[in-house]
This record gives sequence, C-alpha cells and structure tokens, in this order.
Amino acid sequence: MKMKFCSLSSGSSGNCVYMETENTRVLIDAGFSGKKVEELLKNIDVDPKTLDGILVTHEHTDHIKGVGILSRRYNLPIMANYGTWMGMDKKIGKIKDENILIFKNDYDFEFRDLEIHPISTYHDSECSCGYIVGNSNKKITVMTDTGYVSQNMKDKIKGSDILYVEANHDVDMLKNGIYPYHLKQRVLSTKGHLSNIDSAMMLGEVLKANEEKVILAHLSQENNTPKMAFETIKFYLEKLGLDTEKEIDLSVAPRHMASKIITLD
Ligand SMILES: [Zn+2]
Ligand SMILES: [Zn+2]
Repeated sequence: MKMKFCSLSSGSSGNCVYMETENTRVLIDAGFSGKKVEELLKNIDVDPKTLDGILVTHEHTDHIKGVGILSRRYNLPIMANYGTWMGMDKKIGKIKDENILIFKNDYDFEFRDLEIHPISTYHDSECSCGYIVGNSNKKITVMTDTGYVSQNMKDKIKGSDILYVEANHDVDMLKNGIYPYHLKQRVLSTKGHLSNIDSAMMLGEVLKANEEKVILAHLSQENNTPKMAFETIKFYLEKLGLDTEKEIDLSVAPRHMASKIITLD
C-alpha cells in the first residue's frame, strides 16, 4: 500500500508531520496555530477537512499548540498516552470525549489502516514518545525530542523506509552559545535532545544501506545550522563506509516550510 510522508515544519519553533495512505490522513503533532497548520497543509494541496486524526508525541508547546483547535474545528480524534493527556489537558482546551484516544507507549495499536507503535523516548516531559507507523510492508519512524536512544529503540526503528530523526544541536555551538547554564545542561542531558553526533552514531547502528530516507529534524535555531547537521552526519556515516548519495538519502527538514513529499510505493 502506498504511503506519503511530508515534514510540514520542524524545529524548536514548531513541529508538524503529515502522513497519508489511500484511506487515512494524519498529523503527528501540530505545534503551530490552527491557521498556520492549515496554511502548511494548503501548500501541499491537502484540505484539512480530509484529515482523520492527530498523533501527539508530548505536551511541549512546539508540538501541541494547534492540536486542540484543529480537533474542534475538524472534529479530529487526538491520540496520545495518558501522561501526555495529563500534561496537555489544560493547554489544549476542551476536547470532545469521543475525540480523546489513549494508548500505552510501546504497545501497538491500529488507527484505520495504520499500524502504530508508540516508542518511549527520553525527554523532560510527562511521557514522551516517538512513532513507528506502517502498514503491511512500509515502515516510517518519527523520533525527535529524546536525549538518549536505547538499544531497544534502535532495534525497533531498524528497517524503516523513512527515518525522521532528531539532530538538535552541535555540542560546541551549544556549550559556547548564549543559552543560560541550566538550559545548556537540560539540552545536553539524557532527557534533553539528540546532538548531531549522537544522531550520527545512532544512525550508524541503525541504517542498512538500503536506500533509507533519512530526514534530520528538530534542529535548534541557536545551536545548529542545516549545513552543520547535514555535514556532520554525512561525514560520520561515510567514515563507516555508507554512501550517503546512493545507499541512503540524507536530507534536512526545513524549519518553516514543507519538505518534499516522499512517496513509498
Ligand atoms: Zn520539541
Ligand atoms: Zn520537547
């Protein structure tokens, strides 16, 4: 079955991913105003009225800003685990009971024709997760906002056709940058965000040189640049003997606009 994937916007200023199959259209996170998400969807010719639901990774504002408004405007179910519901409940406004769907991290569930595996991540929020979404023979991983990637997580995301993964910061830029000490410590901790080099090392263990599409996401505006993330990870993967042009397809998710749409046939 065909699947389409698009990063509508990515970074600490807001995150939103769009995914569709022939029967289902979902967002993962909606970290912008409802109006902005509608605009982003319009840019890829998707009518928000055709959406079927929203998956939420965690309750930080850059992931949930538009979730409540979109659910009310288009009568969309919101899928999140219990901890995230507790964390976002007051921030997203009143949601119809029938649109509150609760899952458990690390247990599969189905939504329409999608098989969804919410994968626990390490982050300073109630109960964050990433998602492995697929159907019979496709697998897409969306995993950002994690300070650490365990062996179990690596094992689970192996074999993905698309890996949308965090490359948040360059460690030196962060250490020498303008963030106050406590914020630097937060980002660098195992409950913060993945650095470029962490991301490279994780990818080195996970990729199979099988033409996987790797999209680097959730870049910090202050402590990274698209070029630095791309070059660091390309350099590291090539050192491991991976051809980043032929064997994998490496790119960076744009901060303020939609990426190209990837179609998996
Ligand atoms: Zn975030
Ligand atoms: Zn976060």
